[in-house]
Amino acid sequence: MQSFLYTAHLARVVFGAGSLQHLNREMEMLGAQRALVLSTPEQRASAEDIAARLGARSAGVFDQAVMHVPLGTAEAARAVAAARKADCCVAIGGGSTIGLGKAIALTSSLPILAIPTTFAGSEMTPIYGLTADGQKKTGRDARVLPKTVIYDPDLLVSLPAKIAGPSGMNAIAHCAEALYAQDANPIVSILAEEGIRALARGLPRVVHDSGDREAVSDALYGAWLAGSCLGLVGMALHHKLCHTLGGTFNLPHAETHTIVLPHALAYNRPACQGSMARMARAIDASDAPGAVYDLAARLGAPLALKDLGMPQAGLERATDLALSNPYWNPRPLDRDAIRKLLDDAYWGRRPDASVNPSK
Ligand code: NAD
Repeated sequence: MQSFLYTAHLARVVFGAGSLQHLNREMEMLGAQRALVLSTPEQRASAEDIAARLGARSAGVFDQAVMHVPLGTAEAARAVAAARKADCCVAIGGGSTIGLGKAIALTSSLPILAIPTTFAGSEMTPIYGLTADGQKKTGRDARVLPKTVIYDPDLLVSLPAKIAGPSGMNAIAHCAEALYAQDANPIVSILAEEGIRALARGLPRVVHDSGDREAVSDALYGAWLAGSCLGLVGMALHHKLCHTLGGTFNLPHAETHTIVLPHALAYNRPACQGSMARMARAIDASDAPGAVYDLAARLGAPLALKDLGMPQAGLERATDLALSNPYWNPRPLDRDAIRKLLDDAYWGRRPDASVNPSK
């Protein structure tokens, strides 16, 4: 007999090739008159295009979004939004740009219309992050959940393969940990399995040819499901390890997720065989950790922490940090096994399906 708690999040999702054409209709649905358009410096041209489409509804472009939302950038963006009397933010980009929109919404309650251009999934979550004095703090707040999300696969045609592959693996990580989350529930598990299936089907074709619109659409559909999973249930050891490694050793977000995921899954395999079977079924493989490793290799994504510049001498510290303030995890945390997990991730070893520790 099942027993679970499920809380839905309210967001309007417009999905499909060419759906950016509905931007002004969606602004009207939001009741917004003046949008500050957010982007990274690299995506300034896309932000200018959005501002042009908005016409009189544009309050201009703020193009200073960077990874992990430094507090100074957030404060500058908040000041610009207030000075230009914006009543909405349109964030076009990946998790960094949508994260900047969230930082503005956190203190102003301005609604966010998100237009994601990676597979990171931030647009579907009420989770925000802010970095001050080298420390990234995250939290949950209903005000930062975007009210409207426009998923237009045509906007991802420009995504370089070396960003697309890890970004998609980051999305698979959200689905994987949702399947064995402490607060897992049947709806989220269906989303998670289907998300992995769509991403595993689409990503190899996306990195081979970013102009394959069918494949990009498949992967973006999977990323929407993955972001929904991340927003709806708690994450476990894998996400804790990635936050620790990213924050302490300044490693890139999506690539760190890509490398750690097979090893975190191998660690958790003995404690959640049913979830592993669902992951394997979604990838059409027999062993989830090995299949995730093979998928990352097929995408040409990095496989070893040493290749991201992680110092080998930092592995002990990373182990200690992973064990301090741990997230709930299906398999109890064992220091030696986590040290080994990190060693395997450091060298990029393929998880062995025959190794199935009982601890
Ligand atoms: P990103 O937003 O930092 O983007 C990486 C680079 O790709 C940037 O230079 C960006 O301009 C460029 N780019 C994005 N889309 C492009 C496109 N279509 N064409 C060309 N270039 C493009 O990377 P990300 O992985 O999407 O986001 C990472 C950040 O998001 C991290 O800080 C992470 O913590 C955060 N995140 C937050 C959540 C959440 O729920 N709060 C979820 C996932 C990720």
